[in-house]
Amino acid sequence: MTHEPDADKTDHREGAEGARQGVTAGDAVVRAVGVTKVYRMGKNTISALKGIDLEIYRGEYLSIMGPSGSGKTTLFNMVGGLDVPSEGAVYIDEVDVSQLDSYELAWLRCRKVGYIFQTFNILPVLTALENVTLPMVFAGIPPAEARDKGEQILKRVGLGERMTHRPFELSGGQQQRVAIARSMANDPAIILADEPTGNLDLKTGTEIINLLLELKEELSVTVISATHDMKMLSASDRILWLRDGQVQRIERREDLDIEVGAVDGES
Ligand code: ADP
Ligand code: MG
Repeated sequence: MTHEPDADKTDHREGAEGARQGVTAGDAVVRAVGVTKVYRMGKNTISALKGIDLEIYRGEYLSIMGPSGSGKTTLFNMVGGLDVPSEGAVYIDEVDVSQLDSYELAWLRCRKVGYIFQTFNILPVLTALENVTLPMVFAGIPPAEARDKGEQILKRVGLGERMTHRPFELSGGQQQRVAIARSMANDPAIILADEPTGNLDLKTGTEIINLLLELKEELSVTVISATHDMKMLSASDRILWLRDGQVQRIERREDLDIEVGAVDGES
């Protein structure tokens, strides 16, 4: 975390290309095998996922795209170890998530994965800095060290002047930056974002997408984003199109019928 703010605002394709070239078979950070999810509501059942097979590679930016109700959040919860499948299995770093005890699950959620949500979900009574240091405190990092690191991360996401602000004193985009900073607190291997731009205007949403992309390239972190925001296409290495709980297709960005960069400004 020693990079200059704004140092990498140029062409992101090179880094993404590098990440892709580094991908080899067996380099999956997350693997879903035959994942189904059935929600039971009284007498009714809803099949939210109907057999998902998926490999997510280390260092890639994967967008899970689909209309509302297609199962994006359900899949997000599975690959993030927040919920377990009805059938099938999810492996994070080749560990079957359903086999973890509550202590191991807590470790995974605190250290391995950083989460970002549509509604930011930062704690209203805490300052930006306190929100970011909290996961480090949970992870047992000494307070002074957590504070230093929290300050560095907040500077990196462009909030160096907003450390002691509380969420109500921040714009939506700034709150999402705090959430991104918090997600990075314990150097996760995976950043999982569920509709991270869903509550943001076009310009702010684009800034958040660009920030996620920069962090992916600087930190070699895997970014998995559930979204129906088409602005996300240009940032993604691969796009998984989800429909009615099934994978419709998975595309690489270079195979998409779009010009990289041309999507900025469209929704
Ligand atoms: P998306 O994020 O793409 O909008 P979701 O994963 O939230 O889709 O939902 C997929 C389907 O599962 C929808 O039909 C939704 O109503 C249903 N669903 C989601 N969560 C629950 C739940 N906790 N209980 C019952 N049904 C649910
Ligand atoms: Mg959702």
